[in-house]
Amino acid sequence: MRLMTRRLLAVGDGLSMYASCGWAGLHVDCGSQSGGAFAASRWVNGCSAEERWRTDAFLITHYHTDHYNGWVYASDAGSVPPLPYLSTLYHPRLPTPGAVDLLRATFALFALGSGTGSMEIDLWHRVARLSRRPVVRVPLEQGRRVQTSAGELHVIWPPHHIQGALSETIEGAVRKFHDALDRHTRLRELYEATESVEAYADGDKAPVRNRDRIDPWEREGRPRRQHEPLDPDHYESLDDMLPDEELREVNRALRDAANSLGLAFVLDRRVLCLGDLEGRALTGALSYLVGEGLIDFDVIVAPHHGTKWNREMFKLRGNRVEVSVGDRLWPKVKPELGRIARSVHFTHMQGDLVWHG
Ligand SMILES: [Zn+2]
Repeated sequence: MRLMTRRLLAVGDGLSMYASCGWAGLHVDCGSQSGGAFAASRWVNGCSAEERWRTDAFLITHYHTDHYNGWVYASDAGSVPPLPYLSTLYHPRLPTPGAVDLLRATFALFALGSGTGSMEIDLWHRVARLSRRPVVRVPLEQGRRVQTSAGELHVIWPPHHIQGALSETIEGAVRKFHDALDRHTRLRELYEATESVEAYADGDKAPVRNRDRIDPWEREGRPRRQHEPLDPDHYESLDDMLPDEELREVNRALRDAANSLGLAFVLDRRVLCLGDLEGRALTGALSYLVGEGLIDFDVIVAPHHGTKWNREMFKLRGNRVEVSVGDRLWPKVKPELGRIARSVHFTHMQGDLVWHG
């Protein structure tokens, strides 16, 4: 087994993790509730210039700013040199329950909120700008295994088919969105404008020209301003910017749904990363792990910044548990995490957690 180098960067309440099993590296999320500038500076200072230069893939666990605003900032501010090997962006595959496409619904609502364009499209745009070459997007779902520069990535969540109570939650969010479409013309317009986006979400297809993959707004002939550079902090207060309480409610429901469909995965059969999973999604991911006999790990990166616990987690064993957490979430960290590993490490107390194994 090849030596792995991992860094869990101290970004406060957020996540930014680098992993490499050789020449190139994979970077998982890059964001912080303390803002994009902070997350980007931690990326620049926590990884060496060479590690960044050799990074060939990004993985985004889910579309919440504390997981990616560092990339947005770095791209807008031009604060990192180009990443010449960056060619792949992994992201969760979202289902299409009922008549509404969840990914497009999320796009539309975020677009409505920021007034500048969709977060996801903006993100893809910026990732391509960091690499200065076409970036293939690869949607991932449970059971999928892909070879990365940090070893085999085995996806444990989200599943292809969402069932039971979780699917009710998601369908509930989609239903709320659907009702809102009838009442808000602007929302309908944006939703219709995202139609072309779906085709972009399939990285299994052969790469096409960069612009075609990431610039659907422009290709649609929509006004340029819709994806002009924007202040990433705009996104942070999205709830305040939505025009009425009903839309804020729909937005919250969709965000919760997106959270339950975030990526969780095992790297190289050694490192378990549970992303921001919680509740039924966490239970589902754990039962998949147990079913696959994947319970022993060198490192377990705790779910949702260490603030979520589930009895099923007692079935896991780790040499170490790592928690990416800052001031705000620190009081909510679950003490039970100490019972499934020999040692527990917190970025909040120890700064960057560096592990070679
Ligand atoms: Zn988070």
